[in-house]
Amino acid sequence: MVDSPFTPSQFRILPRALQAIRLMNTLGLAVVVVSNQPGIAKRHFDQSTLREFDRKLRSSLRSAAARIDAIYYCLHHPEAQVKTLRQRCKCRKPGIGMLTRAARDLGLSLAASYMVGDGLTDIEAGNRAGCRTIFIGRWKCEHCQFIHPPTLRPTFVAKDLWEAAQLIRSELQRASGVSGAAPKRWKAAVAL
Ligand SMILES: [Zn+2]
Repeated sequence: MVDSPFTPSQFRILPRALQAIRLMNTLGLAVVVVSNQPGIAKRHFDQSTLREFDRKLRSSLRSAAARIDAIYYCLHHPEAQVKTLRQRCKCRKPGIGMLTRAARDLGLSLAASYMVGDGLTDIEAGNRAGCRTIFIGRWKCEHCQFIHPPTLRPTFVAKDLWEAAQLIRSELQRASGVSGAAPKRWKAAVAL
């Protein structure tokens, strides 16, 4: 949803992302951010920068009346300069630690959830966790089904988060008949 931030001034929310989150909110889905943030571990920035980033994200959401239900950051890196963050953790994507934790914390079914992201590690994490996956951006390789193992193949490809949200809406509508009734709140989530 957001470009990897280096400093808070570089923080920006991608076009139509807030609208997309609002749509997911109205579909009755929990919206969860799961983000690798190795910048502190690599001494690119410090805790206060991440807090500032977090604050900007939350205030942009508030002003757009969009809601994110939980945010998880993995601060670790296997080659971190900051010793306490140097570890092979289970949360760093493509690990699924942040997804299983969100599922536990919020009572979600990962099988009914979507993992949306613009990196192969997002897709891999989502697939390993049993989510449906949506790759954002251009899926570059035309013969990927032969090159990438199935764990790296997304269920869908979308141009941006807004298109991803619409894909999810159509799937949910198909699943619930033409009525388009919202699924039971918080059974499923979209992880960004
Ligand atoms: Zn971690």
